Order: sequence, then C-alpha cells, then structure tokens
Amino acid sequence: MKEFDYIIVGGGCAGLSLAYELEINKKLKDKTLAIIEPRREYQKDKTWSFWKVTTHSFDDCVKKSWKNFTVNIPKKTNHLECASYPYQSIDSGIFYKKINDILKENKNISFYKDISEINSEDSFIFNSVPLIKKDHRNLWQHFCGVEIETQNNFFDDEIFNLMDFDCDQRESVHFFYTLPYSKTTALIETTWLSKMNDNSQKDYDNQIKDYIENHLKLKNYKITYKEEGAIPLFYPIYNKEKNRINIGTAGGMTRLSTGYTFLNIQEHSKYICKNIENISNAKKFEIIRKYKFLDEIFLRVLEKHPEKMPDIFFKMFKSSPKTVIKFLSNKSNFFEDLSIILKMPKLTFIKALFY
Ligand SMILES: Cc1cc2nc3c(=O)[nH]c(=O)nc-3n(C[C@H](O)[C@H](O)[C@H](O)COP(=O)(O)OP(=O)(O)OC[C@H]3O[C@@H](n4cnc5c(N)ncnc54)[C@H](O)[C@@H]3O)c2cc1C
Repeated sequence: MKEFDYIIVGGGCAGLSLAYELEINKKLKDKTLAIIEPRREYQKDKTWSFWKVTTHSFDDCVKKSWKNFTVNIPKKTNHLECASYPYQSIDSGIFYKKINDILKENKNISFYKDISEINSEDSFIFNSVPLIKKDHRNLWQHFCGVEIETQNNFFDDEIFNLMDFDCDQRESVHFFYTLPYSKTTALIETTWLSKMNDNSQKDYDNQIKDYIENHLKLKNYKITYKEEGAIPLFYPIYNKEKNRINIGTAGGMTRLSTGYTFLNIQEHSKYICKNIENISNAKKFEIIRKYKFLDEIFLRVLEKHPEKMPDIFFKMFKSSPKTVIKFLSNKSNFFEDLSIILKMPKLTFIKALFY
C-alpha cells in the first residue's frame, strides 16, 4: 500500500485550507500528501462569513462584503459600521474549486476516499473529522438558510442584518440573519442556540417562510439555494497522539460564543505551514485562553437565562463596533475586553462563575 509523508483526513474547509497553504508555500515539492475525502463531488454547501480582521488567501472567493450592519430586538435597531473590518461572505463552491484546481497540478498530492486505502502508519496526520460524543447537555448553534431571488428590487445591499431577535424564542435563543448580496438576492437564515435534544426547533422551512412573508413582507420570491448545519458550541474530543494534529472544528478552531471558525482555520493553517518541518514538536495552536474562559461563562448564562440573551447581545453592540468585532474575532486587548464585560449584566455573569 502507498505511504505518504502527510495525510489530511477530511477535505473540507480546514483540510483544503491546510493543503492550499502548504502548496502555495512550496512545502510539498519534496513531500507527499494524501487527502482523504469521502464526498463524490464538491458543490457549494456552506457560506462562510466573518469580519476580516486579518489577511487570508481567499479574497477572490468573496461573494460580497459589507461595511455596515444592524442588530435588533423587538422595537429597537442598532445601526453599526464596520469599515475597518468589513464583513465578508465566502462561497464554498468557489473556494473548493480554486483549491482543488491548484492541488490537482501537484503530482505529490493524491486523493482517496478512505484512509484504509493507504498505509498511514508512518505518516503525520492532520485530522479534521470531529469525534463528538452524544451528550444532551451540549449546546449547538443550529441553523438553516436559504438564498432567495426577488422579482423587484427589495434589499438594501449596503447593510446586512447580523441578528434579528424579533421572532419566536420558544424559551431558547433564536434569531434571523440576513445577508443581502444584491437588491434582488439575499441569504436568510434562521439560527438557534440550544441543546437540540429534539426536533421541535427544526421546522426551519416554516420559520423562514413566515419570516420572509410576514416579517419582511415579501411575497414574490423564489428559493435558489439552501444550506443547513449545526456547529458544536463545545470542543470535540481531542486525544493527544504522536504524529497527529486535529484541525478545523475537530481541532477546537470554533469560537464557542459565536460559532465563527473560518478565520481561525486560516490562522491555524498558516501556523502549521510555518512549523511543518518540525511539526511533531510545535506547540499546540489554540484559541487564546481568555476567550475560552469568557465564552464558557457566556454560554453558562445563555443556558441558564436564554430569555436574557437578546438584550445581552444588543447591549454588547452598544460598545464601539470595532471593539466588539475585535472581541468576537479574538483580536481585542485588555481594555477592549473590559469595555465589553462592563456592558454585561454584572450580577448574572458573576453568578455564572459559580454554577
Ligand atoms: C452550514 C454551515 C455554515 C457555516 N458558516 C460559518 C460562517 O459563516 N463563518 C464561520 O466562521 N464558520 C461557519 N461555519 C463553521 C465552520 O467554519 C465550518 O463548519 C467549516 O466547514 C469547518 O471546517 P472543517 O474542515 O472543520 O469541517 P468540514 O468543512 O465539515 O470538513 C470536514 C470534511 O471531512 C469529511 N469527512 C467526514 N467524514 C470523514 C471520514 N470518515 N474520513 C474522511 N473525511 C471525512 C467531510 O466530507 C468534510 O469534507 C459553518 C458551518 C456550517 C455547517
């Protein structure tokens, strides 16, 4: 059976980002890489959005970027500006194609559907398949989004809506998210933060239909694309093993309070690439501990007081948008952290320290 220097298990966002980074930095000239990916063909299946707080290699896959956004709760809307850190949306279809076209050119890179097809004993493995143990206490961000097209101009494509809490909460945390790509097209997503222990919140199609038709008051539209997913708001099991690193969601690259993962994956890929020659001894790349700590408290509050969350998110965005964006994107300094923390209901958060 064939052997390889490196194996990437899972050719999704993290696996392909890492392979791309290694390839463009010429780390695979004298090394061999196998990518294990079971899917038959690549198709657009996700839209990755984030505030661009750092450079990345995929500006040419950006479908749209915005410099303004809103956050709202019933009867109140906060208009915010993000020109310093524009919010970008990446089309996964374009991303997969760009990377695969480049990887196919390198004879040192091979693709397999299953790891049992090769000899992996002496390879260094980058694994992006998360090991998740079912636990009814775990929180998830689960969602469904549709891209719609309208007959007439309807959307203001200069401004996106990050969170609209003016909707049914069902004793949980629920908001809609709208990314207007043009005056006639938008992605509209229903998003829940909950334990997902049953299917009672998964009537996504009805929720979206009701939001579009009765809240946005839009009647003539057609659905052109749909995506559905669930992001774990907990860290998957990560057993320390020699010659193996987890990447992507499996590698703890998700910011638990927000679900944002894409840019952390890019930073992790760059880190691995920089240290590839001595990767077995490189320090583990992690989201900075202070964010892990603060997110844990935040999620405890969310679990205990879901009814308070719309107000808490709304108040958080009362800080300068630049500060909030830096905080949510792991780039804030001590004073910026403090200014966010001071916006939170103090007693609720202090109590959460002791739950
Ligand atoms: C629908 C959706 C939208 C998201 N939107 C955003 C966003 O807007 N912003 C953001 O920052 N984050 C977002 N995320 C979170 C995160 O960025 C994505 O989940 C991202 O794809 C994670 O990358 P990954 O490589 O860890 O996982 P994936 O991209 O899921 O890749 C894992 C790969 O492993 C393959 N695989 C599965 N089983 C095996 C196996 N046994 N052997 C080998 N391969 C296997 C899968 O086919 C897949 O290709 C979103 C997540 C989802 C699900």
